[in-house]
Amino acid sequence: MPKIEVNTERCKGCERCNDACPQQIIGMSDQLNNKGYKYAVVFDRPRCIGCRICAIICPDVAIEVYVEGTQYELFQY
Ligand code: SF4
Ligand code: SF4
Repeated sequence: MPKIEVNTERCKGCERCNDACPQQIIGMSDQLNNKGYKYAVVFDRPRCIGCRICAIICPDVAIEVYVEGTQYELFQY
């Protein structure tokens, strides 16, 4: 299973990763970080396909994706 890490203090809550995730498994927290922004949360990690789109699209480099190889299963819109 891919491992996703969100650096909550780098996140500014723009929600671009929410919109970009093809699995639609990223949402925003109810909590605020130290800058006063809601931060991104991956709420259904088992459905992550490790595509890295969230990490690529984040303008603040707040997401890191660790995955071995390429995964195709579970890909659905
Ligand atoms: S790696 Fe892909 S599927 Fe996983 S959370 Fe990021 S955008 Fe979504
Ligand atoms: S794209 Fe980056 S800065 Fe924007 S909500 Fe997602 S993790 Fe936060």
